[in-house]
Amino acid sequence: MEKLLVLTHVDESGSVLNKASLEAVAAGVEMAQALGASLAIGIVGAKADAAVPQVAGASTRVLTVEGEAFAQPRYASDAAACEALCRAADATVVFAPATSRFARVIPGVAYRMGGFADTHITAVTKGDKLEATRWFYRQRVEAVLSREKRPWFLLLEAGTRTAYAATGAAVAPEKVAVTLPEVRTNVTGVRAPKQDEQTIRPDAKLLFVAGAGWTKKQSDGQVHAAEAETLILGFLRGADASLGSSKSLVDQSGENQTVLKFMTHMNQIGQTGATPRHAKGLSTCCHGEEPHVVGWRFINERRAINLDANCGWARGKADVVYIADAFKVIAKVNALLAESK
Ligand SMILES: Cc1cc2nc3c(=O)[nH]c(=O)nc-3n(C[C@H](O)[C@H](O)[C@H](O)COP(=O)(O)OP(=O)(O)OC[C@H]3O[C@@H](n4cnc5c(N)ncnc54)[C@H](O)[C@@H]3O)c2cc1C
Repeated sequence: MEKLLVLTHVDESGSVLNKASLEAVAAGVEMAQALGASLAIGIVGAKADAAVPQVAGASTRVLTVEGEAFAQPRYASDAAACEALCRAADATVVFAPATSRFARVIPGVAYRMGGFADTHITAVTKGDKLEATRWFYRQRVEAVLSREKRPWFLLLEAGTRTAYAATGAAVAPEKVAVTLPEVRTNVTGVRAPKQDEQTIRPDAKLLFVAGAGWTKKQSDGQVHAAEAETLILGFLRGADASLGSSKSLVDQSGENQTVLKFMTHMNQIGQTGATPRHAKGLSTCCHGEEPHVVGWRFINERRAINLDANCGWARGKADVVYIADAFKVIAKVNALLAESK
C-alpha cells in the first residue's frame, strides 16, 4: 500500500498555508482515497502548528516542523525539514507545491531519500496505478508518467486544482525534530517590487496583451509611448489584470526603439514565451500571428482590439474582434472602470 505524504509550508506571515500548499493537500486527499493509501500532511514554518486547522478533515496524521530556523526559505533548513518529515511519515509518494520555496529543495530531498522527483505536474490520477501528467516542449506534448521508484516526489503546479477547504476539528500535530546542519546562509530580508508594480499576476482572471502597435506611429504620424504606458498601467490597475506582450514589443528594447518601460521578456506570450492560464484574454495592438497566439491555448475567452480587419485574430483566433483604435477604446474603458470603483 502506498504511503502518501503532502509536504506544505506556511507563507510569509509564518502561520498560514498558502494556496498552492492547500491545492497539494486537496490532491493528496483525492489520491489517498483513489489509491486506498494512507495520508499524512507535513507542515514546515515558523509557526507551523498554527496552520494545522487549515488541513482539518484531510488526514488524522499531521506532522509539523516549526521554529525560527524555518521562518525563512533557505535550502539547508528546508531540505532538512522535508527530509525529516519524509522519514517520519515513511512516505512512498510525496506531493509538494511547486512554490519557489519547495521547487528548489524537493529534488535534493528526493536524492537524500534515494527516490525520484518529477516537476511541473499538472494532474495526478489513478490508472492501473498512480499516474502524473506534465507537459513538455512548451506545452505541445502532454505526457502521463508512472514510476516504480519510491519514494516518488511530485512537485504540483499551482493553479491546477481547487484549494482544500477544512472540515471539522483539527487534529493534534506530531512535532518532528530536525537536526540542522551547519547553516551558513542568513536571510536578512526580501527585496521585491511593490505588489502594484508586479505586472505578471498568475491569479488574475484577465490577461491583457500589449502588442508592438502601442509604440508604432499612429494616425497623426506620431508615436505616443507615454500615453500608451499610462493607458496600459491604468487598465492593469483598474481591471486587476495580468500583463502579457508580443515578442515584437519586448524585443524593441534591444533595438533602441521606443519601449514601454515596465515590459520585459518575462511578459512575452507565445511559442518562445509563456503559456499562461487565465479565464479571459484581451489582445491590443497585436497582430495575432500564430507564434504569438500559440501561447494563448489556455485562455478560455479571447477578445482583440485591432485597427486591421484582416489581422490574425479576425481569422478565427479570437471570439470577438473590435476593429477600433486601442488608444481610444482603452481610455474609455479606463474611465468606466474608474467610475465603477
Ligand atoms: C520562431 C519564432 C518564434 C516566435 N515566437 C513568438 C512568441 O513567442 N511570441 C510572440 O508574440 N511572437 C513570436 N514570434 C513573432 C511573431 O511571429 C510576430 O512577429 C509578433 O507576434 C508580432 O508582434 P505584434 O503583433 O505585437 O506586432 P506587429 O506585427 O507589428 O503588429 C502590430 C499590430 O498593432 C496594430 N495597431 C497599431 N496601432 C493600433 C491601434 N491604435 N489600435 C489597435 N491596433 C493597432 C496593427 O494593426 C498591427 O496589427 C515568433 C516568430 C518566430 C519566427
